Amino acid sequence: MFLRGQRIEKKVTVSIKNPYNHHIVETIAQSDENDIAHAIESAQNGFSLLRKMPAGERATILQRTAQIMQDKKEDFARTISLESGKTIREARGETQRAIETMKLSAAAAMDLHGETVRFDLYGHSTKIGFYERVPLGIVCAITPFNFPLNLSCHKIGPAIAAGNAVIHKPASATPLSGIMLAETLVSAGLPPDGISVLVGPGKTIGMALVQHKAIRKISFTGSLEVGQLITRNAGMKRITMELGSNSAVVVCNDAPLQHVARKVKIGGYALAGQVCISIQRVYVEQDIADEFLRELSLEVGSIKIGDPLKDTTDMGPMIDTGALDKAAAFCEDAKEHRGIIILGGRKEETFFLPTIIHKSTEDALVVKEEAFAPIVVVNTFTTIEDAIEKVNNTKYGLQAGIFTSDITKALMYAQTIDAGGVLINEIPTFRVDNMPYGGTKGSGLGREGPKFAIQEMTEEKLVVFDRTI
Ligand code: NAP
Repeated sequence: MFLRGQRIEKKVTVSIKNPYNHHIVETIAQSDENDIAHAIESAQNGFSLLRKMPAGERATILQRTAQIMQDKKEDFARTISLESGKTIREARGETQRAIETMKLSAAAAMDLHGETVRFDLYGHSTKIGFYERVPLGIVCAITPFNFPLNLSCHKIGPAIAAGNAVIHKPASATPLSGIMLAETLVSAGLPPDGISVLVGPGKTIGMALVQHKAIRKISFTGSLEVGQLITRNAGMKRITMELGSNSAVVVCNDAPLQHVARKVKIGGYALAGQVCISIQRVYVEQDIADEFLRELSLEVGSIKIGDPLKDTTDMGPMIDTGALDKAAAFCEDAKEHRGIIILGGRKEETFFLPTIIHKSTEDALVVKEEAFAPIVVVNTFTTIEDAIEKVNNTKYGLQAGIFTSDITKALMYAQTIDAGGVLINEIPTFRVDNMPYGGTKGSGLGREGPKFAIQEMTEEKLVVFDRTI
């Protein structure tokens, strides 16, 4: 727990365990109701300071934070790997992205502005005016386990850039990099009351924050189920929801199959499939299905699982036994729905083996629901209309991809797919941190990417002058 600029020690603690070998990584204080009251009081003070601070100063703090993160890049990466189980290479990649997210947030602070407003709509007016974008107050950032640093930066960076104070509730499995981030912000010059990190169960600590009247905005990244609970309980607050998906990619018969198979290996199995835009469904044109499956099996068969801290490891463990059991249940259900397990399909210690399933019916869990595991189901399509219907036949809509050299098909796909992002000749797992990112349907509300998130962390304030006085 991190409050008023320092780590807090308490009798009640929580032990953070390495998902790979279950060794304790660190034991930290667990927050309670009193801590929520202290965090709110602190954030109220933090907001009164930050809203008055010049944008340039807030930008400098964020730039300095990025610089300190750069200097401590290996410490951040090691912490992320130990708490989340992702490989050290993946953790280094996340840290670099988080640094960029903080730099983009600094730029967003400098770019935030309103505009003038016309008052002569119905004839001559004596009024002139403008609106500014002003911070909301206290922003509560609730984050998931899979990108514990970068997704925290995507909320905390733009919130501070705008002049808000933040209370961060990281996932219980992965709070350590979030606490390091808060420490870094304060050492970079953020007023200590500008950020606090509360550690504890989402059901109690998270929900108490969601319902707290002093909080003006909830920025949540996590599952659809928890997102729905939050929207039902938040009351009069702004909400951003970055939720799950079962992302699909379409492979037409004019696509370079080896290249696509290599890309699907990255998109389906990075972070053991525990990515919101992980490829879960591949729809391949019927006449090339066998050839594509051969290529994909070769690629996926080469994935090395093992100790996440070793540079040679490609894929780490699942976050916990619940995630392992869910993946196994999805594979069993797929078999009951005519699915053929081409590779994997079972757990091995803390890992779920990279899995390819072929020909599951479209009502199988592995097609309909989010697996959040290294499982890719490969099914076929006949026409582009058929492919579009299958890709859209989901409650989710985060990102979708297509590989084809036919521009007409590609543009038809982009136009009719119901998702926040459509990728042509790229996998749906593609993301750079400045792009508008978010979903439709059950994948969420609002967009992240600092330039877009800062809009959602601010509101318009109108100022009108009458020139006759
Ligand atoms: P999760 O179980 O929904 O938890 C996310 C966060 O919500 C955690 O901090 C959790 O705390 C907290 N929480 C749980 N119950 C709560 C409640 N009743 N009230 C308030 N907060 C509550 O998700 P996860 O397993 O950590 O992450 C995986 C999910 O996140 C997947 O569905 C994935 O697709 C999604 N995700 C989406 C994006 C995106 O940008 N769209 C990015 C990454 C992940 P505890 O840990 O203490 O339970």
